[in-house]
Amino acid sequence: MSDPTRFLVVLDADSTLIRNEVIELIAEEAGRGPEVAAATEAAMRGEVDFATSLRARVETLAGVPVVALERVRGRVEPTPGAAELIAAVHERGGVVGVVSGGFHEILDDIAPALGVDLWRANRLAVSGDALTGQVSGPIVDAEGKAATLAAWAEDHGIPRARTVAIGDGANDLVMMSLAGLGLAFNAKPLVRAEADLVIGPVDLREVIPLLP
Ligand SMILES: [Mg+2]
Repeated sequence: MSDPTRFLVVLDADSTLIRNEVIELIAEEAGRGPEVAAATEAAMRGEVDFATSLRARVETLAGVPVVALERVRGRVEPTPGAAELIAAVHERGGVVGVVSGGFHEILDDIAPALGVDLWRANRLAVSGDALTGQVSGPIVDAEGKAATLAAWAEDHGIPRARTVAIGDGANDLVMMSLAGLGLAFNAKPLVRAEADLVIGPVDLREVIPLLP
């Protein structure tokens, strides 16, 4: 049964919901920070295939002890206005989802802490007490993000027109074009060029007046 008053806001995680790129923080634990940061930048600008790039970047994480992820979780910083935006969506009867090309290992901590209702990300494979350098299961890429937005909208009986997608990277563009409103936030030039609207200040409260 569809409820025409409800709406769904789906945010990207890295550089949108949070200020960090988590893969760079984990790479720093492996002493590979600058190399992975450069590769992440290229992927977010849309210069390389996301899944291929992600697999290559995760390979550099092989051997990072699982306990290091606790330090990474402690370094994650929510974007200014994140809690306020989520509260505003809930006040208006909306649902908040986060879909990420990053990792459940970090999102499972920060998403519920911020009041996010639904989240999906990649998983890092572990052997013993260390990362193997592989992604476990299918990769959440641009199409995976869009399919997740569509599935969440359907599960909640929310028409596509009443969905908002917010992201900064090239892998957010498919979900942004599928959503009723696609917002480029803190975004790369390619993403700014294709969005319905570009949010300038890096403060998620800027989205509140645009909610359906
Ligand atoms: Mg991002």
